[in-house]
Amino acid sequence: MNIGIIGTGYVGLVTGTCFAEMGNTVTCVDIDVDKIVQLRTGELPLFEPGLRVFFERNIREGRLHFTTEAADAVPECDVVFLALPTPPGDDGSADLSYVKQASRDIAPLLTGYTVVVTKSTVPVGTADRVREIISASVADPAEFDVVSNPEFLREGVAVEDFMKPDRVVIGSSSPRAIEVMDRLYRPFLRNGNPMIVMDERSSEMTKYAANAILATKISFMNEIANVCEAVGANVDFVRTGVGADSRIGKQFLYPGIGFGGSCFPKDVKALIRTAADHHYSFRILDAVVSVNEMQRRRFASAIIDFFGGDLMGRRIAVWGLAFKPNTDDVREASSIPIIETILAAGGHVAAFDPEATGSTKLVLGDRIDYGDDAYEVLTGADALLVCTEWNEFRRPDLRRMAEIMQSQVVFDGRNLYDPKEMAAAGFVYRSIGRPSYSPEASLVAGELRAL
Ligand code: NAD
Repeated sequence: MNIGIIGTGYVGLVTGTCFAEMGNTVTCVDIDVDKIVQLRTGELPLFEPGLRVFFERNIREGRLHFTTEAADAVPECDVVFLALPTPPGDDGSADLSYVKQASRDIAPLLTGYTVVVTKSTVPVGTADRVREIISASVADPAEFDVVSNPEFLREGVAVEDFMKPDRVVIGSSSPRAIEVMDRLYRPFLRNGNPMIVMDERSSEMTKYAANAILATKISFMNEIANVCEAVGANVDFVRTGVGADSRIGKQFLYPGIGFGGSCFPKDVKALIRTAADHHYSFRILDAVVSVNEMQRRRFASAIIDFFGGDLMGRRIAVWGLAFKPNTDDVREASSIPIIETILAAGGHVAAFDPEATGSTKLVLGDRIDYGDDAYEVLTGADALLVCTEWNEFRRPDLRRMAEIMQSQVVFDGRNLYDPKEMAAAGFVYRSIGRPSYSPEASLVAGELRAL
């Protein structure tokens, strides 16, 4: 099949590359000239495990193309995907201007029968809007259908998710369009996972409901963890105990410093807004958002309180900037507001992330230092904050850390370490929802009295 992808970001690039890997001919379009130049010279503008191999192979074999001109892609296409940003507006609603503009751009370019697919996460009713826009300026003989096909891939495992989806959701009432989508997705569903066909509105809602449930699970567990701290329980045991219940499941029960990324925060707010537009107050989701914000504030405040209320002259090391491991994406990452709070309290921050230094520089610039490896940023540090659970942070050399840090203090926002082991190694160690143990030996040695 010939496929056009309008918008070559995280979703568009992964979608296009994976469709090419299945033998389709794909042209990815983006208005960002630099990005297209980069892609055409064989460089990936983002980090995503497994993407490079598919990307290089499909370019080499002539199935994957990049252009800034929709006119180079759309006319020959059987299917055109809209993988455009839907950022939050001031009132939380999803900003549909990119989707609408691209719909206007492609309408006069459609020839023959084309399925136009909204891949972006879009509010209920958007497929109707796209259909109206295209109908207004489509060329006379062209026939088209608009289909909703929300994307459920997770950054960090996006290629794996796309190649082996749990399910493919299709919102359409057109048998012809459903047949095209079935042919396109069948190779991805050979493991027996379903293509679930429904009406467009339910399909659009399914994506928001899925993200809202996952975000709710995270905020809920963060509150359980906070109460565990208050009552002297250990959230690790509680998580294991409740996760063994098949009705609850083990996933998304890890407490931490809140969810981030380009999806959960904006999608939860957009669903609250959609409900409000229909005179319904989505109270659970209001709480999910405020717990998420509180969780970051709580973590940053705990550090500042630990040092007596201000961080003047303190060197704070940060491990992890990306909103989650295996991505370079720092959109809405918890690390950013936490670092902003540390800076506002007078602290000096030196941070290391295996992939997200470049993207963080675009946000924080030279207000913090960036290290080339995890240990470099620890030199002379008064404390280490762990903000992202990259694998390489899981088994650090505690002896080496103790030697180079000014004070052995670790605030772990991702519960990576064993509190007893950290205490035994002489660290003051704080995590989320778990008991702290005193590093008696270090206290006796006086290393921490200087705090
Ligand atoms: P992104 O910002 O990484 O990429 C969007 C791309 O669209 C950018 O490269 C931008 O330059 C381009 N663009 C903007 N206007 C254009 C136009 N008129 N023509 C061509 N290109 C244009 O966004 P993303 O993370 O890929 O997300 C896209 C959509 O998918 C959003 O609705 C998002 O909510 C949804 N989604 C994202 C994820 C994720 O993990 N990132 C997962 C599922 C769904």
